[in-house]
Amino acid sequence: MDNNNNSYPIAAIATPAGVGAISIVRVSGPSLKKIFCSFTKKSSLPKPRFASLCSIYSPINNKLIDKCIITYFKAPFSFTGEDVLEISCHGGNLIPQLIVESLIYLGAKNASPGEFSYRAFLNNKIDLIQAESISSLISSKNDLNHDVALKNLSGFFSKTINAISKDVSNLLIILENELNFNENEITFTSKKEITKNLNSLYSGLKKLHNTSFFGKVIESGVRVLLLGRPNVGKSSLFNHLLGHDRAIVSNISGTTRDTIEGNSEINGIPVCFVDTAGYWESSDFLESLGIKKTLKEIDFADFVLFVDDKNPIKQFKETNLKISKNKLVFVLSKNDTPILNNKKEPFFYTSSKTGHGMETLIEHLSCLFSFNKPSGPIVTSLRQKDLIFSSLNTTKACIDMINNNLETDLLVSNIQDILYNIESLIGKVYTKDIINNIFKNFCVGK
Ligand code: GDP
Repeated sequence: MDNNNNSYPIAAIATPAGVGAISIVRVSGPSLKKIFCSFTKKSSLPKPRFASLCSIYSPINNKLIDKCIITYFKAPFSFTGEDVLEISCHGGNLIPQLIVESLIYLGAKNASPGEFSYRAFLNNKIDLIQAESISSLISSKNDLNHDVALKNLSGFFSKTINAISKDVSNLLIILENELNFNENEITFTSKKEITKNLNSLYSGLKKLHNTSFFGKVIESGVRVLLLGRPNVGKSSLFNHLLGHDRAIVSNISGTTRDTIEGNSEINGIPVCFVDTAGYWESSDFLESLGIKKTLKEIDFADFVLFVDDKNPIKQFKETNLKISKNKLVFVLSKNDTPILNNKKEPFFYTSSKTGHGMETLIEHLSCLFSFNKPSGPIVTSLRQKDLIFSSLNTTKACIDMINNNLETDLLVSNIQDILYNIESLIGKVYTKDIINNIFKNFCVGK
C-alpha cells in the first residue's frame, strides 16, 4: 500500500468474484468527473447520493459495456472522505472486470486490499479501532461478534479510548508543570492528585483488559481441543458436537492429518472445536513432532476434552501431559450400551454412535462457557489487548514510582509511553508496519 499518495483515484470490484445478479465496482479519489464523463458520455457528474442509470462505454474501443446504476458520493461525504462512484453493474466475471479496466485506462489504479478503508482512515473518517471493526463485521460468524463489531464501528470503544487519552494528557500537563516549578520534587497536593489519576487510569485499563477474553471468544470462539489416542472416537465426537460431518471418520489410525477445526455455538457462545487426531499417529508419540504440536495446541486451547474408550483419566496420566485441571474435561467414548455404574467415575460417558451422554457433556460445556457479557467496550483484537496490557503495566510502574518518590522526569517519560500506546490504539500515532498489518487482512474493494 502506498502510504501517503492519495493523488490518484483507486478502483476495484467490491463484490465477490463469480457469477451473480449484480456486482459493484468502486472508484475513489480526485478527477472522478473526467472519468465519469469519459465513460458515460455525459457532461457532468450525477446528483450526489442519487441512483442514476447510465450507459458505460469502453474508453478503449467505444463499445457499450453495460447499463449500470451509478451513485456518486461527493467528498467529504463518502466512506473514504474522497469523491466516490459506486457502479452497480450486471454480475459475472467479465462486465465488472471491463469496467475496472476502463477505469484504469482513464487514470485510476488498482486498489490494494483495504485501500478504501485506509483512505477513510487517512481522511479521519474512521480510526484504527473502527477499521478493525469493519474487518470483524465482514467476517462475523455469530450474533455477539456482529453486535460488538457494529458497536465498535459506531465509535463506542474509540470514545472510551479518547477519554483515557485526554486524562493521560492532562496528567502529563500537571507533571510537566511540577517539573517546571519544583524541579525533581512533586508537591504533596500534586502527589495526591497524580496518584488519584493514576489509580483511576489503572482501573479503567484493567476493566478494558478484562474484556479481552470475551472479545477473543466472540471473534474466534472458545477453543476446545479434542485429545486422545488414535481410534478412540475423537473425530466421531468432533462431528457429533458440530452436528455434521466436517471431519473424515475412519478406523485406520491417523486418518485425520494435523488439526481440523469446526465452528459451532453452545448456548449462544461461539465454539471452535479442534480435532487433533493426526498428532498421535506416531507409535512413539512422546518423542515425535506430534507432542510439540500438541503442546502448542494445548497452550492455545481454552479447554481440552481428553477422550478415551477405556479410561480417559488413566490414559491421560500415561501421557504425562501437564494441563491445568480447570481446562480439562475427561470423556469416555464408545459407551454405546451404558450399564448402570454406581462407581461414578469423574468423566463423561458418551457414545457418538447412539448419541448417549452427549446432552450431559454439552450441558457441562455450556456451564464452562457461561461468561458474562461485559457492559462497556470490548477489546477484540490482539493488537488492542497488547497495547492495553502494556499501558496497564506501565501505569502500575508509575504508581510504584510515585509511592517510592522516584524522580519526576522518569515518571513523565513513563506516562508519555502510556499516552503513545493509548494513541496508537486509535491510530493518532502509528507506524507503517502497524497500518500494513491491519489493512492487509481486508479484501480488495473494502
Ligand atoms: P479417532 O481416531 O480418535 O478420531 O477415532 P474415529 O472417530 O475416527 O473413530 C475410530 C473408529 O471408532 C471408527 O470406526 C468409528 O466408527 C468408531 N467409533 C467412533 N465412535 C464410536 C462410538 O460411539 N461407538 C462405536 N461403537 N464406535 C465408534
